[in-house]
Amino acid sequence: MTVDTEQIYYKLFINGKWQETEIDSYIDVINPATNKSIGKVTQGKAKEAALAADAAVEAFKTWSKTPARERANLLWKLYDKVFENKEELAKVITKESGKPIKQARMEVLNGAEYIRWNAEEARRIYGTIMEAADPKKRLQLKKEAVGPVAAITPWNFPFSMVTRKLSPALAAGCTVVLKPAEDTPISAIKFFELAEQVGFPKGVMNLVIGEPEPIGDTWLSDKRIRKITFTGSTAIGKMLYQKAAEQVKRVSMELGGHAPIIVFDDCNLDQAVQQIARSKFNNSGQTCISPNRIYVHESIIDQFTKKFELFVKRLKVGNGLKDETDIGPVINRAGLDKVESHVKDALDKGATFDVGGKKYEKDSCENGFFYSPTVLKNVNESMKIANEETFGPVAPIFSFSSDEEVIYKANNTDYGLAAYIFTTNLSRSHVVSEALNYGMVGVNDTVLAQVEGAFGGVKESGVGSEGGPETLADFLDTKFISTII
Ligand code: ADP
Repeated sequence: MTVDTEQIYYKLFINGKWQETEIDSYIDVINPATNKSIGKVTQGKAKEAALAADAAVEAFKTWSKTPARERANLLWKLYDKVFENKEELAKVITKESGKPIKQARMEVLNGAEYIRWNAEEARRIYGTIMEAADPKKRLQLKKEAVGPVAAITPWNFPFSMVTRKLSPALAAGCTVVLKPAEDTPISAIKFFELAEQVGFPKGVMNLVIGEPEPIGDTWLSDKRIRKITFTGSTAIGKMLYQKAAEQVKRVSMELGGHAPIIVFDDCNLDQAVQQIARSKFNNSGQTCISPNRIYVHESIIDQFTKKFELFVKRLKVGNGLKDETDIGPVINRAGLDKVESHVKDALDKGATFDVGGKKYEKDSCENGFFYSPTVLKNVNESMKIANEETFGPVAPIFSFSSDEEVIYKANNTDYGLAAYIFTTNLSRSHVVSEALNYGMVGVNDTVLAQVEGAFGGVKESGVGSEGGPETLADFLDTKFISTII
């Protein structure tokens, strides 16, 4: 790895101040398109995590009592700031995650929409009054902020994952300690710079970047932190869930997925091809709702595959900062190794390809972690790619012959995040979407991260959801008050 001479040095944000750690240790943030460092971040440990928790606990006393209208006003201002700085934010996202700039711009707008939605919902925290059996009693349910919240976010959406977690927490009256992924901390840092300009009271939002385990353990073992909201792998999510159970903390978990897409013989083929390709190769296949298993009815599989391959061949691979780029690198060496190993395993077991199937060489694509968009054919359930998240630009196409068979196969996984179907048959769209054991189902639609909808999974893909009309519920406790008058 080479290091740029002009290094930018970033700090942590604790109790309203940008802070360095005492020890001289830092994280190098690498641009995956070039394998060069784009900045250094001072590395927080348990001590900084504890200081952040102290600040969040202290600030909770006043923030939770701050009128919802004031909390909403600050979130509105933050939304405006994000909007004003959208191009700079998009560039940061592209540089540290590698994703194409047009997708990074979408991420900023999508992330901003979560801030706006939650600002709107902050004004609509309602309680309930019930009629008691005893006429001398008055019964009410009141909603209260759960307490200081720990948020841990992944690298694939380094900006919108932060806004999706922090804005509902802040809207509900919770204070926050955040640990973003160590691969992509600068988007979170830029977001905190904007929040500072807006004037959130000190301690309400705290940012600690560094070694995951000591930071996570500090927050999970702190009784005063009442909730953890996490997006990441199922393996880490389970571990955090277990640790949270020690103190019966509230949890929201958005974990891994292995999304099936079912393409029925009555679908609009061109629509299906475009939607599936866009979704599959979005962020180089590194999204938790990425179509991992494309099941196509045997009567149209050749037709579908030809059109799909044609579409994929036209995708431009390159540095995400170029406007024309459709596919950037994957996040790092380990990510690239995983993609290669899944493809190799599939080929060893009989899969074939006519499009993609290779790493990009240094000369043709800078020095980063590129993999060409790949379409795998003749795949079957014995392959790793049929069962594990590949998190790369590889689309395996499976054949099926009946609705029952494909529903069984689609559900035959421990994951339950997103599933998709393509059909023009109204009755089939209802029957199949009801039969799929998933938190989200797209019918002729692969765009599920919509703020008005509820993003979340079932089974081992998680608990809770983000966005939608219940967006604040995960950050509110219900208190029952019974009064004898
Ligand atoms: P991915 O496979 O997408 O990198 P991870 O689950 O490994 O997903 O990471 C998601 C987030 O969880 C990142 O911010 C990462 O630093 C954090 N994380 C990983 N291990 C731990 C841990 N032991 N304790 C707390 N956070 C962790």
